[in-house]
Amino acid sequence: MATWVYNFSKTPKKDKAGLKNLLGGKGANLSEMIKIGLPVPPGFTITTEACNEFYKRNRKNPIGLDKQVKSAIKEVEKKIGKKFGDKKNPLLVSVRSGARVSMPGMMDTVLNLGLNDETVLGLAAKTKNETFAYDSYRRFIQMYSNVVLGVDHHNFEDLIENYKLTKGVTLDTDLDAEDWKKLIKDFRDVIKREIKKDFPQDVYQQLWGAVGAVFQSWRNQRAKTYRKLNNIPEEWGTAVNVQSMVFGNMGDDCATGVAFTRNPSTGEKSFYGEYLINAQGEDVVAGIRTPQNITKKARLEAKSDALSMEETMPKVYGQLVQIYKKLEKHYKDMQDIEFTVENKKLWMLQTRSGKRTAKAAIKIAVDMVKENLIKKDEALLRIDPKMLDTLLHPTLDPKAEKDIIAKGLPASPGAASGKITFSADDAETLKSQNQKTILVRLETSPEDIHGMNAAEGILTCRGGMTSHAAVVARGMGKPCVSGSGTIQIDYQSKEFKVGNRVFKEGEIITIDGSSGEVMSGEVKTIKPDISGDFSKIMSWADKTRKMQVRTNAETPLDTKVAREFGAEGIGLCRTEHMFFDEERILYVRQMILSKSKEDRSEALGKILPFQKKDFYEIFSIMKGLPVTIRLLDPPLHEFLPKSEKEISSLASSLGISEKEIKDRISDLHEENPMLGHRGCRLAISYPEIYEMQCEAIFEAVLQCKKEKIKVLPEIMIPLVATGQELEILKELVDSKAKEMSKKYNQKLDYMVGTMIELPRAALNAHDISKHADFFSFGTNDLTQTTLGISRDDAGKFLDDYVDNNIFKIDPFVSIDVNGVGQLVELACKNAKRNKSKIKLGICGEHGGDPDSIMFCQKAGLNYVSCSPYRVPIARLSAAQAKILSKRN
Ligand code: ADP
Ligand code: MG
Ligand code: MG
Repeated sequence: MATWVYNFSKTPKKDKAGLKNLLGGKGANLSEMIKIGLPVPPGFTITTEACNEFYKRNRKNPIGLDKQVKSAIKEVEKKIGKKFGDKKNPLLVSVRSGARVSMPGMMDTVLNLGLNDETVLGLAAKTKNETFAYDSYRRFIQMYSNVVLGVDHHNFEDLIENYKLTKGVTLDTDLDAEDWKKLIKDFRDVIKREIKKDFPQDVYQQLWGAVGAVFQSWRNQRAKTYRKLNNIPEEWGTAVNVQSMVFGNMGDDCATGVAFTRNPSTGEKSFYGEYLINAQGEDVVAGIRTPQNITKKARLEAKSDALSMEETMPKVYGQLVQIYKKLEKHYKDMQDIEFTVENKKLWMLQTRSGKRTAKAAIKIAVDMVKENLIKKDEALLRIDPKMLDTLLHPTLDPKAEKDIIAKGLPASPGAASGKITFSADDAETLKSQNQKTILVRLETSPEDIHGMNAAEGILTCRGGMTSHAAVVARGMGKPCVSGSGTIQIDYQSKEFKVGNRVFKEGEIITIDGSSGEVMSGEVKTIKPDISGDFSKIMSWADKTRKMQVRTNAETPLDTKVAREFGAEGIGLCRTEHMFFDEERILYVRQMILSKSKEDRSEALGKILPFQKKDFYEIFSIMKGLPVTIRLLDPPLHEFLPKSEKEISSLASSLGISEKEIKDRISDLHEENPMLGHRGCRLAISYPEIYEMQCEAIFEAVLQCKKEKIKVLPEIMIPLVATGQELEILKELVDSKAKEMSKKYNQKLDYMVGTMIELPRAALNAHDISKHADFFSFGTNDLTQTTLGISRDDAGKFLDDYVDNNIFKIDPFVSIDVNGVGQLVELACKNAKRNKSKIKLGICGEHGGDPDSIMFCQKAGLNYVSCSPYRVPIARLSAAQAKILSKRN
């Protein structure tokens, strides 16, 4: 029979990744901590395979699971000398979900499971601490009811608040056993009222309820949303960890805490964390009490009076330091740890590699190479390329005027401005209207993830550096200020107060997640610093990678930015954007409205000097680096006026009738412009357009030559489907070149190539390559044409496709390896068979997507080209692709 359950100390022999796949991250790391001799409460893991089997069996437990769990419980009982459900000496457990990667959308942990009306008496007697026993019981009922039975936690919190009011106390810790007993009775009435069932007293019924809830939570909406945002496949499943409880809530020599082995915001090599005395589990991260610093140094820096763990429990603190160092050495990475102290004894409850900001990721990777902990290749693999984006964006201008209204914790760096919004749904709605928002919440929970994703930044009133808002924001690379206690939110009237100032929904505020400041209005920002560790990592990446990185750019500004970010050429210069410029659109329109070739040539002649200047500017910025210029691609009607007003003003400028213009517009109308008269098809009908563009290119080249600026133009013909099209148009380019060369008595160097963006072109690469010096895969159009999905219309249903697992990820974001990818690979192979030296590249959006870049390396492309801000991402991704290609 299949093994569904593994004791933490008897896990199967597998490599690290294999073990994580089977036991989930939490389970695998618990077993690893035991292996290296750390104190971990005993327990067992129900595998991810059991979760998948649960779904295969239509949400029924796998056969044999029941027996295996019971025998695993027996082993735990033996190990710690307590019995599950025993009236005198009860074993209590926690039930914890744990997928391969930590997932905030999953079921919350249930603590203290195994308590009922009888075992609570045993616990009280055994520990001689009745208050503790009933505090644990009420916590269990609250958690279990909320996460397993679906009774909203507000029901219980309201009861506790009212009770405290009546009693005249403020803290939960002010309540004693008698109080909790009364409250527990009320809790149970609420449960009965809400779900028409009694709270389960049978401990195994409790356990199966919790295990089932973990399995179910794998497919709840929150988890699905999180998976979609983070590209986590559904088939991974989650594991369930059942672990004997240790108690941080037995008195003042008990505590619970979370810590990072290095600072997750800055990457600084200093132990960093938060803890709470006499507390349990999620108290630290839930934002109910404000946690205290672990180290004295951090306390002093925060100017806090609440004593650090280093000061209140020096001995245990010393052990914790030993342990964190050991963990860092073992995992060779920054760790995020969770621990509990029960009567001065330290227990480790979790370790995992810590989420960090991009800045911290880079500093830690560089430092660890210096410390000889890891090699450069490993350092490069440690950094998530997508995160670099956050470093390339602006921070607050130190010289800008700031109207600071509040301060909180600097929970996730970067600055952002936007309209105040108080709910995740509102943030999402505004985002869809292209509006920037700051999501302002008391605290966030997994239900808010979609709103956090939509907002520019997050501001919370409660919670520390390890609160939900802080952790999720850092993961998303969004600025966050947490625990800004002076802000008072009124959700009802949609406003917040600070002192006597009132801020309403829709007003603009700015947050600085690096300083914790909250400001009224929009504050100016400045360019980021990309020197130091960043440039070091980038230089390692450049030495490692094989593929070149180019950029898609057509304006001098974009071109300059891309050069600063390390672009090694232009992979796609779209000439049509140049046509829209105010000064020349008139001539473009005149050209389109022309009835004869002569008229058209005359109009084109007026556009020529503009185009020449465009190319000259770009060539001089790129100083000899390759520049791929795509000749005109979109259908002509895109350039014609749309509104009545524009039409009439065009008519008077050109001295023709409005009717003539309108007729031409309707002539040019296409049912399906994406597949219409565009790309090289335009030049087959009107060769003079491409002739003018080539003339402008060669004029610019010759001018550069005169000024001793090196140039390497690559002329690219779009939307080719057949060899003949390219043959005809290459001949057009060549004869223009010959003519110019003769006229100026100068040699002209250039290349001619094509975009591969139609399936037929990919299939006929062999034939097409006869006329091409290079191919550039235009994977935006190639995806549209291969899948038969229009990118502009896909928004309406792509989500459903991802939800139903038809696509793992939006194929316009990450290349569809099995479809579009096959065409790319085939085209590369056939082109090389004909012309081994042919240059191959990609210039779709995919050129800046790390997963797609991995694919490009495999397909054997020479370069990727992407938008300027993605250039650093592509440089790092290309290095990672190269490193991984050596490993497999
Ligand atoms: P998450 O994945 O959300 O971090 P965990 O399973 O780690 O959830 O549980 C959250 C917290 O519950 C832990 O940090 C720890 O404080 C507490 N906890 C979990 N298991 C135990 C246990 N066996 N004994 C004591 N506390 C526990
Ligand atoms: Mg945890
Ligand atoms: Mg295209």
